[in-house]
Amino acid sequence: MNIVCIGGGPAGLYFALLMKQHNPAHDITVVERNKPYDTFGWGVVFSDATMDNMRQWDKATADEIEQAFNHWDDIELDFKGEVIRSGGHGFVGIGRKKLLNILQARCEQLGVKLVFEADVNSDAEFPDADLIIASDGINSKIRTLHQEVFQPELVVRPNRYIWLGTNRLYDAFTFVFEKTEHGWFQAHIYKFDENTTTFIVECPEHVWLAHGLDKATQDESIAFCEKLFAGTLQGHKLMTNARHLRGSAWLNFQRVKCEQWWLKNAHGAHVVLMGDAVHTAHFAIGSGTKLAIEDAIELTRLFIEMGDAPERIGEVLTRYQATRSVEALKLQNAAWNAMEWFEVCGERYCDTLEPPQFMYSMLTRSQRISHENLRLR
Ligand SMILES: Cc1cc2nc3c(=O)[nH]c(=O)nc-3n(C[C@H](O)[C@H](O)[C@H](O)COP(=O)(O)OP(=O)(O)OC[C@H]3O[C@@H](n4cnc5c(N)ncnc54)[C@H](O)[C@@H]3O)c2cc1C
Repeated sequence: MNIVCIGGGPAGLYFALLMKQHNPAHDITVVERNKPYDTFGWGVVFSDATMDNMRQWDKATADEIEQAFNHWDDIELDFKGEVIRSGGHGFVGIGRKKLLNILQARCEQLGVKLVFEADVNSDAEFPDADLIIASDGINSKIRTLHQEVFQPELVVRPNRYIWLGTNRLYDAFTFVFEKTEHGWFQAHIYKFDENTTTFIVECPEHVWLAHGLDKATQDESIAFCEKLFAGTLQGHKLMTNARHLRGSAWLNFQRVKCEQWWLKNAHGAHVVLMGDAVHTAHFAIGSGTKLAIEDAIELTRLFIEMGDAPERIGEVLTRYQATRSVEALKLQNAAWNAMEWFEVCGERYCDTLEPPQFMYSMLTRSQRISHENLRLR
């Protein structure tokens, strides 16, 4: 098969390498608009379970990731002057850049062609392809181009967040809540390599506006956050690596869902959405990369099970959509509960609960951890 992955994020790269490993005769190209070492964001997390899954599919990649990742079990809350810890949560943190570089190197080793600095406008640019993976992320151009078929549903959420980093090293997944004269801010904090920690600051839109952060430059926003979270930062600075973003560096989360996941284009190629292009899950449960990786695994598994002759592609994609849309929906529902909790927590919980009750509410926010399960942890 001639396969083109548009977008070299975790979804496109991992699918490319799994398919090439399965059948070296496939001609596979990943086309990415950025340079190999350019990326937004800091670290990402995924669970131990996702790591086990990856190990079964490509041990070489899993081994490399394991060497580069940071593992931790504890969740810590810093709230109203009290620090509380809960154990047994089992996460892995890795720099997004590092993750992509490992996947890129493995793709090249297996013979996948990587094309950088090529901004794709349409799947029609690849008339010889049998299969086109639209793994071009949350703002997928391919999804928009064919929106009558894919029928995306995009929901923009009210909270604002900014994805920063710091060199202060934390030994647990840490949440810090700080009150200002206009309302509450929260920070989601996790270390992802030997000297860097992801530091996401989030607040409701009205609080963000009241502080004039809509008019703030990136440097002013960083200075604001450094001052607000001075207690936890202990003299360390906050950093951005999103200087390429125009306008405000504060984003709104966008939930993406699609009615249809694949189509056959005018050139006879099957075009299929994967990763953030077809579903997003709020960072409150840190599962976007997991979903992208598991999409890639499932589509490869189906090609192995059902055969990878071009005439089988339509059937394979139908099964892929049927299985992955259910899994994505389950995670999106859990992520939605967690996201809503963070949207209302300032007024509803921060002002009314004491630290132990607040911690309990926070840890059970997605409704995936029950009372008994939390007792066990
Ligand atoms: C603040 C924040 C925190 C997050 N934290 C976590 C976390 O802790 N754990 C987690 O699992 N996930 C996290 N995520 C989500 C995670 O980053 C994504 O879910 C994941 O990267 C999805 O992978 P993807 O390959 O589908 O898309 P992306 O990683 O977005 O990759 C898409 C790629 O396509 C390229 N591209 C786009 N358009 C084109 C084009 N026209 N032509 C060529 N190339 C193109 C882009 O440059 C990009 O490299 C977080 C996201 C945010 C915003």
